[in-house]
Amino acid sequence: MKLSFLFFISILLSGHCDASTVRVGLLSKALPNSVTFIASGSSYTIYEGKKMLFTLHQDESVRVEYKSGKLQVKKFGKVKGTFKNLIFKEDSVIGFFRIRGNRPETPTLPYDDNVELSIHEKRIRIINVVDLEKYVAGVVESEIGNTKLQELLKAQAILARTFVLSHSDRHAEENFSVCDLSHCQAYNSRSRFNAAVLQAIDSTRNKVICDTLNSMIAAPYHSNCGGQTISAMDIWTTPLLSTQSVIDTFCLSGSHATWNSSISKKDWIHYLKINGVNPTDSLMTDSLLCFAQEERMICMNKVGTNIPLRKIREDFHLKSTFFNICIAEDSVLFSGRGFGHGVGLCQEGAMQMASLGFSAIDILRFYFKDVRIEDAGFTHENK
Ligand SMILES: [Zn+2]
Ligand SMILES: [Zn+2]
Repeated sequence: MKLSFLFFISILLSGHCDASTVRVGLLSKALPNSVTFIASGSSYTIYEGKKMLFTLHQDESVRVEYKSGKLQVKKFGKVKGTFKNLIFKEDSVIGFFRIRGNRPETPTLPYDDNVELSIHEKRIRIINVVDLEKYVAGVVESEIGNTKLQELLKAQAILARTFVLSHSDRHAEENFSVCDLSHCQAYNSRSRFNAAVLQAIDSTRNKVICDTLNSMIAAPYHSNCGGQTISAMDIWTTPLLSTQSVIDTFCLSGSHATWNSSISKKDWIHYLKINGVNPTDSLMTDSLLCFAQEERMICMNKVGTNIPLRKIREDFHLKSTFFNICIAEDSVLFSGRGFGHGVGLCQEGAMQMASLGFSAIDILRFYFKDVRIEDAGFTHENK
């Protein structure tokens, strides 16, 4: 079944992109005010808005810097001009570009297709306008690296594709759809070292995860659930029906299955007090300070006060909300399970399932309830 509504959603939310194109904010963490762009794979034509400026031959580079409210372009150290915005368009579909931040310095990394540069708060906003499938390939390689497990790669490809299409408006105020960080999905570069990724992209092209109402699901995922996923309703108060809690034994030997952290007992007592747990000091017994969860809980209840576990996780930068707390002399020990929010697919569990011979669809249906895989019906440029 083709999902024609996806076309309209993407058009509405991504501005001037066509439906199979994604707008991704690059170098979102560094936010540089000076970058170097290197044309690779083909020549690039540079525009300011619709006005053509000049062509950059393959392997040539320009340096773009924020200067007094404009973007100054230098080639071979010579100023080519200053502009309000810049659009670098590939002259062939095999084009890709390399970009690095000069201030602050970032590694030189390759990305497919086109890029737009504009100014935001004296920094350069970098938006990669990229074919959906090429973007998904970059995400799959960034998220799960160099695995050769084809069914795992396929599951991650379908998941990443569904995620970006169902979060088209996540960064609408910044004029792009998704950022390149784990806030959305890791997108460190184009796919460049794992040929198995491109094979998984080809065999799942256009495939997305839908619920029983034929709507794409939000497709959340995380590194390791610690043995039990949590429903979106329980942690985000968002009713995502496909994300019911699942007992997951597949991830228990994963590298992020357990973690430990500690703070001082004094800081923990202070924290409880400022969050409404305020008995007399004599009542601050170890049992009041401790906490255990056999199965995942939403809040820590102490003398009638509920503190959301999500808040504790954020306040103490913990790896998950699935933790126990105990006292050891002057310290408070957190012993935790899993890494990430715990909603939807567990990547380390999925990896184990794939290595045991489960298919991509088995994996997706284990973590998401009552879903099926559909064809989004896009057409893509050839590569
Ligand atoms: Zn984001
Ligand atoms: Zn898990």
